[in-house]
Amino acid sequence: MNELQKELTSQLQKFCQSKIEPHIEHDDANENFRMEIFQELGALGFCGMTISDQYGGAGLGYSDFCIALEEIAKHSPSYAVTISVSTMVQGIIEKFGNEDQKQKYLPALTSGQVIGAFCLSESGSGSDAKALKTTAKRTEGGYILNGSKMWITSAGIAKTYVVMARTGGEGAGGVSAFIVEDGIEGFSYGKKEKKMGWKVSPTREILFQNCFVPEENLIKAEGEGFKVALGGLDAGRVTIGSIANGISARALSESVRYSLERQQFDQPIFNFQGLQFMMADMATELEAARLLVEKAASLLDAGEVPSKLCSMAKLKATDVCMKVTTDAVQIHGGVGYTAEYPVERLMRDAKVLQIVEGTNQIQRVVIARHLKKEN
Ligand SMILES: Cc1cc2nc3c(=O)[nH]c(=O)nc-3n(C[C@H](O)[C@H](O)[C@H](O)COP(=O)(O)OP(=O)(O)OC[C@H]3O[C@@H](n4cnc5c(N)ncnc54)[C@H](O)[C@@H]3O)c2cc1C
Repeated sequence: MNELQKELTSQLQKFCQSKIEPHIEHDDANENFRMEIFQELGALGFCGMTISDQYGGAGLGYSDFCIALEEIAKHSPSYAVTISVSTMVQGIIEKFGNEDQKQKYLPALTSGQVIGAFCLSESGSGSDAKALKTTAKRTEGGYILNGSKMWITSAGIAKTYVVMARTGGEGAGGVSAFIVEDGIEGFSYGKKEKKMGWKVSPTREILFQNCFVPEENLIKAEGEGFKVALGGLDAGRVTIGSIANGISARALSESVRYSLERQQFDQPIFNFQGLQFMMADMATELEAARLLVEKAASLLDAGEVPSKLCSMAKLKATDVCMKVTTDAVQIHGGVGYTAEYPVERLMRDAKVLQIVEGTNQIQRVVIARHLKKEN
């Protein structure tokens, strides 16, 4: 870590200890998102880290952003994912939006005053996202959207939505991307999902019923929407990897601490080689995952489109996270299965990382596709 990254980590550690940790169990049990925490993180510059300072961002790289997200995720994967998705939406607007769209939407997002959400998935199209059915029919001065989106992170608390809808025929070429503002006529929320983890981050369905979106909210051009969505997902996958690393790091430190305290057979359970080997493997796998995330992030920072490596980083870090958190519960024995210790929550928060932003099967499909192309 360079000096700036060390400083960011220490600042976030103090913030999360004082502002997030005191409420973590209550908020997890009550599915309570605190907008003021998000906005304070925004005021500190963490809600638009990779966006240019011209639009209020911090103008930093994905290498820095991933380190910040890892630190936040040690305390709350839910706030980390809210920031990660909101920043992905900003990245899409900055990369593909026109100047008016950037000026209008980015400053409120980068400052953390409002949250951004990414709306691609539908009930019938998750992995096969290009099969989406929400329509956007051209009308005078804009488009009329009809349909619904499923599992949208931050739906209900976000104000700025990037929505993929069909303006043309079947397949990826018929998809366009729009910026949709919360509160407009014909835009509403469906049920909030009851989830296993990420309890503080709300996930909801979004409904469009004859929802008029002005033509100035079309991103890039008609038919470019699937490329726009994929353009955001590469970076999104790396940031999901860094959130996984944060959860793994916390699970490992909790395991070392507990095993040094807990006595069985008149000694700390840490003394048993069976557990030492588990923790040695957890630490080694976490470092391997970190290296992949760092490499993918540094290529993104160099302006490359390292899709294969982004998929590898997401795949490795999230699979490691699931294994590490499961082993952390095992090391804690019976109490690990209760809400009394954080490892139970960490294991629940880990699972969804293998599903979002492309399941880990889909990451393998992407990697294999690259292998074939490179041959
Ligand atoms: C908490 C949460 C938050 C989310 N947030 C968002 C969000 O903000 N925005 C958004 O757009 N979406 C979001 N999603 C949706 C998420 O991206 C999808 O759930 C995911 O892409 C998988 O789609 P699916 O659930 O339809 O599963 P399916 O596509 O039905 O997959 C079911 C199973 O089949 C496997 N499978 C499918 N196709 C293949 C294949 N070709 N090869 C091998 N295996 C395959 C999958 O890996 C999986 O194991 C979120 C989901 C959750 C749970």
